[in-house]
Amino acid sequence: MNNQEEYYQPEIETMPRKELEQLQVQRLKKTIEIAMQSPFYAKLYKEKGITPNTIKTINDISKLPFTTKEDLRNNYPFGLVATDMKNLVRLHSSSGTTGNPTVIVHTQKDLDNWANRIARCMYMVGVRNTDVFQNSSGYGMFTGGLGFQYGAERLGCLTVPAAAGNSLRQIKFIRDFGTTALHAIPSYMSRLYEVFVEQGLDPQKDTKLRTLFIGAEPHSDEQRKRIEEKFGAKAYNSFGMSEMSGPGVAFECKQQNGMHVWEDSFIVEILNPETLQPVPDGEYGEMVITSIDRDGMPLIRYRSRDLTRVIPGECPCGRTHKRLDRFRGRTDDMLILKGVNIFPMQIEKILMNYTQLSSDFLITLFTTGENDEMTIEVEINELISDRYEDLEKLNKAVTRALKDEILITPKVKFVEKGSLPRSDGKAVRVKDLRQKF
Ligand code: ADP
Ligand code: ZN
Repeated sequence: MNNQEEYYQPEIETMPRKELEQLQVQRLKKTIEIAMQSPFYAKLYKEKGITPNTIKTINDISKLPFTTKEDLRNNYPFGLVATDMKNLVRLHSSSGTTGNPTVIVHTQKDLDNWANRIARCMYMVGVRNTDVFQNSSGYGMFTGGLGFQYGAERLGCLTVPAAAGNSLRQIKFIRDFGTTALHAIPSYMSRLYEVFVEQGLDPQKDTKLRTLFIGAEPHSDEQRKRIEEKFGAKAYNSFGMSEMSGPGVAFECKQQNGMHVWEDSFIVEILNPETLQPVPDGEYGEMVITSIDRDGMPLIRYRSRDLTRVIPGECPCGRTHKRLDRFRGRTDDMLILKGVNIFPMQIEKILMNYTQLSSDFLITLFTTGENDEMTIEVEINELISDRYEDLEKLNKAVTRALKDEILITPKVKFVEKGSLPRSDGKAVRVKDLRQKF
């Protein structure tokens, strides 16, 4: 693929669903055949009597066992590799907070497919070879760096591999090189804006930014709108995970109403996390995902632990690939307090409605006596009145709105700008200090 026009592929992106399913069946069968070259799937499928012929229709995918993060850890590093080592050209690994990290390896063809997918995502929202694309994402093992790098190069953008951090240098690059498109995690996008302001600059007037790619961590639509207003640019949600190569799994089109998941590369199922049965479109559940165009290390029915839903109906853009709603977080992000299930994103959504509050907040759970409590610290923007009565009134309003959303009453504390701990990578929103009885 070297003709730029081909980064819009209507024959695939708007393929009738019946045909798309046929393509998926064909690729799934092939994937099973490839996967069975790995020690892990060879053993598993032999035990269960699974062969490519197990799959006749797309629904037959439910006959295949799941693959979990545990499986990746237990077979670390190369137990799921499905090809000869000589065919492998790249290894990525995702952070191993507990135990072994998970490793994914790629053949050259896997990397090409991945880059094409990202080029397709960027092209979809109007990025062209005349754009200057700055990638303020971590490089190295983190897939947001090299993933977007190769995608943007393929599209022909002038690509600035700025990597994460060093905001003053980022801003200098954005201004000196005339950056028009920028990729960063949403929490960093907010930080970067603060530094613009500290420098007496307004990104709307002082930069050429038009397109922002934000992803890799959960964020609310309110947060996105805030970022768009600050930068005077469109911000598109980008979903990916290292186990599925990285970014480029699902991406918003110009409608900004859900992310099209590229079903020529992935089969997505949304399942009830307890019964593991499919839920109807429109209902939330755990995303289980299968790669169907990878040779080095395909993963079949991988339990992502990410919670989302399929947005029912057709997208006005004409693409037929399913749209995934904003991710709520992972099953393990869910907090249970006083018997109520709460996602940090519900809290962010409320806080972002108040212009007086900044985008940085920290939820702390702790035990007093026999009770578990929640405190939410949120930084206030400088320009608001520091009259005690005004803050008191605001605090009451925010607390009430939170109570309506999460059904319990948190203690809301306003703290000074810059006082909450900053993370180098994805934002840390929850500190759980509860005593476990
Ligand atoms: P790690 O597991 O170390 O965070 P990854 O970089 O592979 O490694 O992270 C992938 C995870 O990041 C996803 O499983 C999901 O939980 C989260 N994520 C990625 N993109 C988004 C997004 N656009 N919205 C919400 N969450 C996202
Ligand atoms: Zn669309």
